[in-house]
Amino acid sequence: MLTMAIQKKGRLSTSSIELLEHCGIHLKKTGHDKLKTSAVNFPLEVLFLRDDDIPRCVEDGIADIGIVGDNVVFETASDIEKVMPLGFGKCRMSIAVPKHVEYKDITSLEGKRIATSYDHILQNYLDKNNVNAGIHKISGSVEIAPGINMSEAIFDIVSTGSTLISNGLKEVEIILESEASIYSNNSLDKDKKDLIDKLCFRIRSVNTAKDYKYILLNVPNNKLDLVCNILPGMKSPTIMPLGKEGWSSVHSVINEDIFWDVIEQLKDAGAESLLVTDIEKMIL
Ligand code: ATP
Ligand code: ZN
Repeated sequence: MLTMAIQKKGRLSTSSIELLEHCGIHLKKTGHDKLKTSAVNFPLEVLFLRDDDIPRCVEDGIADIGIVGDNVVFETASDIEKVMPLGFGKCRMSIAVPKHVEYKDITSLEGKRIATSYDHILQNYLDKNNVNAGIHKISGSVEIAPGINMSEAIFDIVSTGSTLISNGLKEVEIILESEASIYSNNSLDKDKKDLIDKLCFRIRSVNTAKDYKYILLNVPNNKLDLVCNILPGMKSPTIMPLGKEGWSSVHSVINEDIFWDVIEQLKDAGAESLLVTDIEKMIL
């Protein structure tokens, strides 16, 4: 049995549960205040915690693995192992100053006060750059600190930057990039490691599938070579004869990034009746 900690309520909760669902792992329904549940079809117990508590719980072995933002792991300086990034909860941690303030580089913060909830990451960064600044730790609404004369700068999570702008701030240094990742305890037995491998295999096939589309198209036989050269399929496309004389059905998988370019080229090459579908899982 594997024990996994996920965020109880917040930005990572829904995506964490959805990820398990997409991996075919169904959790028993719980009431609002339940602290734990288990999966019906996988040897998994799930603990619902505040994200700040997840790294320590994994380090202490209360949970074997956890889904948490890299930023929280760095802040808590926990001795745990990153198993795999998950591609959601993406953000960066940046220093911002009031927009009219002149800022050259990190030395511009010498002797200044910086408000943050992430004092550990910030202190490390200042030490690395030999800058002495006062850190004012506050637990929330960091972006209002310069406006109420609490600090001359802030260090906080940024995703779109709109909160900074609406508080009259500009982003001047990106200190780290973060996303939700799976972290594990450092000393797990073989059975637990095998279960983690099994889980990661499923996650990889779900996440890879998100980047691709499955396409089906009808092609006159005399255009098959042309069309097949355009298709950057996983190996080579599947070609099947159509009921209609002189035509074939071509099936292939293409990357979302180049999707529209490829579709246009295929149409120009003579393909007709293109069907495109999402792929649920992909095992390479
Ligand atoms: P908890 O009650 O569990 O302590 P919280 O308020 O600390 O929750 P959330 O705001 O739910 O945390 O954010 C959880 C994580 O989501 C962050 O640590 C970060 O990794 C990620 N994240 C992604 N984008 C953002 C964003 N725009 N603001 C805050 N966190 C973000
Ligand atoms: Zn938190």
